[in-house]
Amino acid sequence: MNTNNNILQDSFGRQHTYLRVSLTELCNLRCTYCMPAEGIQLSPRSHIMSYDEVYEIAKTFVDHGVTKIRLTGGEPLVRRDADIILKKLSTLPVELSITSNAVIIDRFIDILKSCNIKNINVSLDSLNAEKFKTITRRNDFEKVYSNIMLLIKESFNVKLNAVLIKGFNDNEIIDFIKLTKELPISVRFIEFMPFDGNKWDKAKMVSYAEIMEIVYTNFNEKEIIRIQDAPNDTSKNYIIKDYKGSFAIISSVTNPFCDSCNRIRLTANGRLKNCLFSSSESDLLTPLREGKPIEPIIKKAIQSKFKMRGGMDTQEKLEQPDLHGNNRSMITIGG
Ligand code: SAM
Ligand code: SF4
Repeated sequence: MNTNNNILQDSFGRQHTYLRVSLTELCNLRCTYCMPAEGIQLSPRSHIMSYDEVYEIAKTFVDHGVTKIRLTGGEPLVRRDADIILKKLSTLPVELSITSNAVIIDRFIDILKSCNIKNINVSLDSLNAEKFKTITRRNDFEKVYSNIMLLIKESFNVKLNAVLIKGFNDNEIIDFIKLTKELPISVRFIEFMPFDGNKWDKAKMVSYAEIMEIVYTNFNEKEIIRIQDAPNDTSKNYIIKDYKGSFAIISSVTNPFCDSCNRIRLTANGRLKNCLFSSSESDLLTPLREGKPIEPIIKKAIQSKFKMRGGMDTQEKLEQPDLHGNNRSMITIGG
């Protein structure tokens, strides 16, 4: 590992060891909080990284100290060569994981196992088929739910991600937590975040404090156990006494975790985003295709990382549409 010229450390001393790679801007669902109803302007196909380019860029990051790679999208598994990418990346000395909506994940069980992928995050925002259809604009609840059960049966570590929207699925918080009584999963409630075209409104967001208030009114205080978060963890983790699984809250809006951030993101068209909320990006793919070194660009991008949420360091700034509207839709960032 070459750390002479530590290109992954930013000006606040944060070491970026976790790379999230978006494999595609395409998705087989249409979640309302993730993409606008009218769809998004897709990058021309020739601007999307090939599998060799994904590997080459990822390897550069690994050579400089990245130890963890998570594949995301869009839906990473809709990419026709997803299996090739999984195999190639599994040869790197990293912990490889994936975030998926699980609609077609049953076709990938063997390949996920052969690539030594253990940790799989699955989006599921409702336990009710009709609501699932409303939020995803697709009728795939049964498939997703049975695939989640399949992943558990096949011994993957499953985390369910639920974005909470006030008046829509916040009445399911307790049902989700009750799933963890018998299932060894972690349910993670995510505060609804603002991105281009997702009609974000603070009033629709269910905050960490509101979630915990609901938890405390439904369970006895002594049963709710706060568990130790892993280093660089973005979630606040809890278990209900004697339950097999756990639950957590990802509070990027009300309680950001920027101080310990170790994440960087590579979009499907080969751009480095130094923060989920950053409106600026650094093109790595064009120089790679021109045979130029990408390390200086990576270094510059990391050095320019803001201390907090892409420069939206107050709640007021985060709520300004002209600031968060400069960012991409989540579907083209990768979560
Ligand atoms: N398609 C895969 C999936 O849904 O799991 C991977 C990509 S998706 C963009 C990654 C994560 O981003 C999902 O867990 C999703 O819930 C989350 N996400 C998307 N838009 C969001 C928003 N506005 N606020 C909070 N989380 C969001
Ligand atoms: Fe697709 Fe995931 Fe976005 Fe839903 S959250 S539209 S499944 S990329």
